[in-house]
Amino acid sequence: MLIAIDIGGTKIAAAWVENGKVLERRQQPMAPDPIGFMAAIAQLVLGWPAPQQVAVAATGFINDGKVHSVNQNIIAFWDGFPLAERLAERFACPLILMNDGQAAAWGEYQVRQSASENSPDNLLFITLSTGVGGGLVLDRKLRIGPHGLAGHVGHATVSRQPTDGDLGCGCGRHSCLEKIASGTALGRQASAMFGRAMNSAELFELALTDTKAEAIINNAAMAVAEAISNVHMTIDLSEIVIGGSVGLADGMLQRIQLALARAPNLMQVPVSAAILGPDAGLVGIMQWANAKDA
Ligand SMILES: [Zn+2]
Repeated sequence: MLIAIDIGGTKIAAAWVENGKVLERRQQPMAPDPIGFMAAIAQLVLGWPAPQQVAVAATGFINDGKVHSVNQNIIAFWDGFPLAERLAERFACPLILMNDGQAAAWGEYQVRQSASENSPDNLLFITLSTGVGGGLVLDRKLRIGPHGLAGHVGHATVSRQPTDGDLGCGCGRHSCLEKIASGTALGRQASAMFGRAMNSAELFELALTDTKAEAIINNAAMAVAEAISNVHMTIDLSEIVIGGSVGLADGMLQRIQLALARAPNLMQVPVSAAILGPDAGLVGIMQWANAKDA
């Protein structure tokens, strides 16, 4: 019996898995501090049998069992938080930890591989969510990297600028993709544009009838397309997969595809939506754990 956990910027999902099948899935809001976080974990697994393995996909990059936010504004206590140690106190079994974008990349790669003989060898997964993250499969292997950073495309810079001109990113750089295209960034730009607190879901709703709202989203899509071309020209990709709540929001994929279609032919690459939807990270870490077990 395996417990798979996906820790995002705003929510934590957990699945009770027997022989590769999800028996139950639960969700809790992400907590702002370590005590609340461990309480949420306890709540998620309440009543489930003791697992033989726990597999965790977490936002941020993981180095030596400790988790760090690239952008410190997203989860403040993710600043070297000893996630492996804390979970080892809670679960007396082997533990696997991985970045959520990387886990999702692996899940999306696996699902394509089982569906088609022409599955992509080189795939970049981009999640547009509370932040912008990603994962990379190169030559059919998941690339994690010596610092756990591979695929963190959200903190690559782009030349497009956010509509509110706010360029400074929580990672310490300026002009990161995350500052334009994350859910947090879309909400921030919408709030500045319309003079009231708005989140990204409200912005997408407004964009159906308001051209200024549409312009914010379209600018974000163009920034994503720019980042895709940059990565493609660096490592030559076969497919890009878009996930996350913003990435899977109505029309976002089409906007990115249209923006990318304006790039020179050589800089274009097929872009598709996450087949596993919001559970790409959860399924990906589950499959990674099963493969390691086999
Ligand atoms: Zn950044």
